Amino acid sequence: MRAMVFLGQEDIQVQEYPDPVPEEGEVLIRVEACGICGTDLHAYKTGMYAPGVVIGHEFGGVVAAVGAGVVSFRPGDRVTASPGIGCGRCFLCRQDAENLCEQSVKLGVTDDGAMAELVRVPQSGVHHVPENLSLKEACFTEPFSIALHGLNQSRLRLGDRVAIIGAGPIGLCLLQTLRMAGAGAVWVVEPNPFRLDLAMRLGADRVLNPREVSPLNVVSHLTNGSMADIVFECAGFPETITQAPMLVRRGGQVVVLGICDQPVDMDFLSIITSEMDIQTAYYSKASEFARTIDFMAKGSLRAAPLITLEVPFERVVESFRTLLSPDSNQMKVLVRPAL
Ligand SMILES: [Zn+2]
Ligand SMILES: [Zn+2]
Repeated sequence: MRAMVFLGQEDIQVQEYPDPVPEEGEVLIRVEACGICGTDLHAYKTGMYAPGVVIGHEFGGVVAAVGAGVVSFRPGDRVTASPGIGCGRCFLCRQDAENLCEQSVKLGVTDDGAMAELVRVPQSGVHHVPENLSLKEACFTEPFSIALHGLNQSRLRLGDRVAIIGAGPIGLCLLQTLRMAGAGAVWVVEPNPFRLDLAMRLGADRVLNPREVSPLNVVSHLTNGSMADIVFECAGFPETITQAPMLVRRGGQVVVLGICDQPVDMDFLSIITSEMDIQTAYYSKASEFARTIDFMAKGSLRAAPLITLEVPFERVVESFRTLLSPDSNQMKVLVRPAL
């Protein structure tokens, strides 16, 4: 089969790769579409994935074959899969914290992923895709489930006024989950005008371009000086994580979803003396993944507006470079093996 293989920093290639064979308890999936994720872009820049691994972890496809012992899936079933699949046996998995499992399968990170014609996945990570959800939309189950987990990690109350820093796919998925969950106002901070426009169309009350205004001043003005109840950091830069607490009210909360591998400067004195809660969110749980599919099937969470381009394997490298440019007018690029 053909697959996008991660070779190292700024080096991914489409290669001829051995067809995966499903082992006991595994499902072999023919990939219809696979999204390029911000984490993939980060790995491309820094080299953080395992060399030789097939990338891709946001996908939808059709079951091609099943290994021994698989009863819930049959060839022809439309499916998606959670990319982080807990071992099911360790202390954390038994505490309903399988997103933190240290022995988990991580598709497209340490284990071969779905930017390929075929991918094999342990059955516990595979989910059926309802008829009214396309396999292209199914690629968004993962980013929406990350947003759902971020929201579940927060202490959002009905009517809370929140700010989102970063309007990439995760920020815009979170915006939709916050609307669904009854946030009173959602303000989005992002320097890219294309992304700000999309944020407005997806229900932001106000978008703030830090190249034009001071988010600090605007949020202060909007709240009569008290600042936001919660800030969700979805950009993952050291500077934006440093800024997040400044937008939060005394006694409020920062939830960090952005992945940052650099040290971050924090003014801990003001964090402590305002009794601010700093919360993180990592991956999502199987239960959240399943609920995300329900919300998408009901139409409460909309993936289609986020799809801006579909490309064959040959255009993946070019798409990575486009997505990494600060003024990119792409949001989610889907890789389609059949194109
Ligand atoms: Zn992702
Ligand atoms: Zn485990």
